[in-house]
Amino acid sequence: MKSEGELKLGDSVTHIKGVGKKRAQLLEKMNIRTVEDLLYLFPRKYEDRRRAVTIMEAPFNEDVLLEVRVVTKQLGGNPYSKKRVLRVLAEDNTGSVEILFFNGKYLSEYFKPGLSLTLFGKISLNNGRRQMAHPEFHVTGDKDDIRGLFPVYPLTEGLYQGQMRSMQLAVRQTAQQIKEWLPESIVRENNLCDPAYAIENIHFPIAKRPVLESRFRLVFEELLILQSGLFYIKWDRERTYKGVSVGRGISVKPFLHMLPFTLTEGQMKAFGQIERDMERDRPMNRLVQGDVGSGKTAVAELAMYKTVKSGFQAVMMAPTELLAKQHLATLKGHFEPLGINVKLLSGSTRAKERSEILEALEGGSIDILVGTHAVIQPDVKFNNLGLVITDEQHRFGVNQRSLLAQKGENPNILVMTATPIPRTLAVILYGDLDISVIDTLPAGRKPIRTFLRYRDSRKKIYDFVEAQVKEGRQAYVVAPLIGESENIDCKSAEEIYEELCKAYPALRIGLVHGGMKQQDKDAVMESFAEGAIDVLVSTVVIEVGIDVGNATVMVIENCERFGLAQLHQLRGRVGRSGHQSFCILICGTDSETARKRNEIMCSTEDGFVIAEEDLKLRGPGEIFGTRQHGLPELNIADLVKNADMVEKVKDVARRLIEEDPELEMPEHAELKKRVKKMFGDKIQLRL
Ligand code: ADP
Ligand code: MG
Repeated sequence: MKSEGELKLGDSVTHIKGVGKKRAQLLEKMNIRTVEDLLYLFPRKYEDRRRAVTIMEAPFNEDVLLEVRVVTKQLGGNPYSKKRVLRVLAEDNTGSVEILFFNGKYLSEYFKPGLSLTLFGKISLNNGRRQMAHPEFHVTGDKDDIRGLFPVYPLTEGLYQGQMRSMQLAVRQTAQQIKEWLPESIVRENNLCDPAYAIENIHFPIAKRPVLESRFRLVFEELLILQSGLFYIKWDRERTYKGVSVGRGISVKPFLHMLPFTLTEGQMKAFGQIERDMERDRPMNRLVQGDVGSGKTAVAELAMYKTVKSGFQAVMMAPTELLAKQHLATLKGHFEPLGINVKLLSGSTRAKERSEILEALEGGSIDILVGTHAVIQPDVKFNNLGLVITDEQHRFGVNQRSLLAQKGENPNILVMTATPIPRTLAVILYGDLDISVIDTLPAGRKPIRTFLRYRDSRKKIYDFVEAQVKEGRQAYVVAPLIGESENIDCKSAEEIYEELCKAYPALRIGLVHGGMKQQDKDAVMESFAEGAIDVLVSTVVIEVGIDVGNATVMVIENCERFGLAQLHQLRGRVGRSGHQSFCILICGTDSETARKRNEIMCSTEDGFVIAEEDLKLRGPGEIFGTRQHGLPELNIADLVKNADMVEKVKDVARRLIEEDPELEMPEHAELKKRVKKMFGDKIQLRL
């Protein structure tokens, strides 16, 4: 064990006073191994304990600082028991509060009547009495008072806030060893403060301003490390992978003539970008973002057409069997008349057929393969794979995308997603991809009319559904839960199904949920698609990609339980034809958040607007499952709240990588080290 003065940034945490093996293991769980790691664990927020309030003005159930005097105390319960409740009555000039310690015997002597205390905790109201359970407390005027700005750290189970704070105190001085490591011009142009100063102030704040300056610096450097890494990956790929130029001089006109519709402007624009990428002799890596119903499939088909006509094969992977089948039907309809051979490979393809397909694929007689995850199995081999498409990309991880790409020699990659991602975020999440946006919907679509209703209107709502069915339409009813639950406020899909069957015997009603076998789910969905079922009651399993033009009503029960982006996806299942469509949100609560979310849903159909709002309400991690995207975790930068900085830093990082792609210049040495550390082995970084 060393004394504080000798600690070095690179020392193991076990060198810190009071940190033993067990504590080190807990820290390890948080990826903290060295003193430096600890310094770079930043507070999530600060508790402002600078000003005390009076008992009467203190809000309930929020952390408050009180200055009180002890009046009386009482130790309850059995005198022989160790667990005795200590009740301390304390007051200030405005009122009184009862302090509770449930295991308070050992504290009993401490709270002498007349003692002046500073308390920090939450007040709750119990039978008209103000109570505070287990507050932090200190004798007023003691030297380590509990006042000030207190950092609140992220923790792991078994580790406490107080322990984290004292470890930070123990390593405080080592922050001075951090020297400025960013190039001088970047520091100057962006007005960045010194890193040691930033670390000191983020952990030991004295006032808001230095904290803000420090945050700015630390967010900036974290984003710079992230984006430099992403730009490097892109640069490296473009340098290394020689692709093939595909389809130069091959016109897609014959295919366009086949299509039963003309492409929208947005579709044309996206395909124009794809075509340019394909004709270059570097592999394409492009993300096509288009709201539900914007017609991404047709754009993908054009790319496939061009690929096949140049003598290459194409593969398209969808997240569910049903979606793959749907694609198969569409693709067959468009391609077979042109003599292009399309086949499906999924988990339920029978062994004999599977081996025939694999053989034909390797022999080159299959031009286009559509499928589920089944297409990335190791024994699936292509003859000459030129194009890889993943549909609904948000359902796949980065790894699955690259596994598929490895089946060809640097094939072109096209990634499609309906999850509208605000541009700033897309830059990060898909930092290694070029992005096309389909920003128009096919003509003739009527806007979906969205209504908000409460439980008391359920009968009216389902009467309306019945009326729509009588006019020949179909409807979806979505519930958050599969079966009965303890939560009486929330109806399950099964309950709703039974109720509807009873109340509307004339309707043909189907049920599908995530607990069912894939085959059974598919069977129900297929009969819905064929029109043999009028009303499909389901959980969110129908969320992705299903295209039934005749369905015009989407009823969502307990809509407060779904995320905004999810509601948007669900709503996108209707409004896919010329019929007027409806989305009815049944809300089980009137909470403030629910109200805001419903307002947004009723006021716009623009997926990007909804996504932005969703981000504001929930934060990015939850929505995109950042981890799934293989993106490193961030300590301080928030891709939503710091959106402005994301843009700004992007330019800095791009210039930096253009100037020194492999970060070989001495002034980039520390940045290189940090990039390597951040990305670890998550993304193949050959720096
Ligand atoms: P998504 O982008 O959600 O995957 P799809 O590709 O499934 O959308 O297309 C939705 C529906 O719109 C399909 O039925 C498709 O045939 C139709 N469609 C696509 N493009 C056009 C267009 N330009 N004009 C008319 N209908 C179109
Ligand atoms: Mg689609």
